[in-house]
Amino acid sequence: MAIDAPSSSPPSSSPWSDRLRHSAIILLAAGLALSVVVALGELSLVRAASIFICIAAAALVPWRLHNVATSREDVRGVNPVETAAVSAVVSGMPDPAVLLDRAGRVIHLNAAAAQLAPALRKNELAQFALRSPEIITALREAIAVSEPRRAMYLDHVPVDRWMELIITPVPVPTLFGGTDKCMLMTFHDQTPLRRVEEMRADFVANASHELRTPLAALSGFIDTLQGQAKDDPKARERFLGIMHTQATRMARLIDDLLSLSRVELSAHVRPDTSVDLVPIIRQVADGLEPLARERQVVVDIDLPETPVQIAGDREELLRLFENLIENALKYGASGGKVIVTLVSALSGEGTPEVRVMVRDFGPGIAPEHLPRLTERFYRVDVGDSRAQGGTGLGLSLVKHILNRHRGRLLIESVPKNGATFTACFPQARTPTLV
Ligand code: ADP
Repeated sequence: MAIDAPSSSPPSSSPWSDRLRHSAIILLAAGLALSVVVALGELSLVRAASIFICIAAAALVPWRLHNVATSREDVRGVNPVETAAVSAVVSGMPDPAVLLDRAGRVIHLNAAAAQLAPALRKNELAQFALRSPEIITALREAIAVSEPRRAMYLDHVPVDRWMELIITPVPVPTLFGGTDKCMLMTFHDQTPLRRVEEMRADFVANASHELRTPLAALSGFIDTLQGQAKDDPKARERFLGIMHTQATRMARLIDDLLSLSRVELSAHVRPDTSVDLVPIIRQVADGLEPLARERQVVVDIDLPETPVQIAGDREELLRLFENLIENALKYGASGGKVIVTLVSALSGEGTPEVRVMVRDFGPGIAPEHLPRLTERFYRVDVGDSRAQGGTGLGLSLVKHILNRHRGRLLIESVPKNGATFTACFPQARTPTLV
């Protein structure tokens, strides 16, 4: 929408000549009246002359003031603050901006404002276009007390947007000298902040829920042990076992939350220590051997004989591979086999990278879940994850660790035919793979 200056024809007669005529008539009438009074001998000539000078001053001196005050009516159709400079300033503002007169009528609006609120029209009251009671109140108050006011403007089309609206009184120079008090209304997009705030609130709600579940189980069993199961050694043994599992789950959740926040805090700092991936993967696989045995899964590790160096954080990499291999053992156990392979390859952009693939032969993952797997607390089956001691944070942690290492995670799965999680890292400058 183009915002043009209004087209209006100039006034036909000059206000100055009108006024001059007006004053001349007053002076003529005063002169005549005084002459008659002097002729009748009712007033001395000197007194009559002084009175005439006073009348002349009264008729002529307020001209200038009178001209400024009434020029709006004289120059009908032209808003006195509508100058090219004001128009250029409003149009040049990066955020949506609208200039209103003291009655709340639109004087100027820039293209961003016209796009945001297409109902806003020049020379029309802004409240007709922005029908929110909060905005109307803020506008009234800003005009009444001549102080800035804020309000929220919600836009739902094409997507939800939260805009903070700030109404600031501004004295704007008029065409005829002096200033006019106008209202500058600017809109500031708060949508990204809102989204972060929503995510934070969701996260806190999810984390509290996840912590409360094992906590409720623990206090329930403590009550039982203090009450009816007090003298039952068998029940006590069983309940203590469950309590241990729940306490471990809570500890793991807190561990994962802390790791996640640590990795997020250092997300912008890329690790610069050179580490060899081969012993890291072996260490993780060795540590998970008891779980593999328990789940009756054979873990096949296919790693090169030579070191594979990348710029990385050893502790974070241990955490990453632990999550991927443990998930394969937990969720893909029915396949009986997990293969861990390290290869070098080229990324989509043709840059060399190191890929660590963890493949299982379990039930796989339905395609609709794949894009959401790295979201915090997202699980395909919440019950299954809890039964396996999962927190729903593992893959989110994996994604953040890979981001920090400037790598990426690929997830491929064919339902009923297992899943492959591939961690890709940019290769160190000197290739060490053979
Ligand atoms: P959790 O702590 O629940 O394991 P993750 O973030 O590690 O959390 O994994 C999220 C979900 O992804 C799991 O709950 C599970 O449903 C699914 N998942 C992860 N790895 C596999 C896999 N190898 N096979 C099938 N499903 C998997």
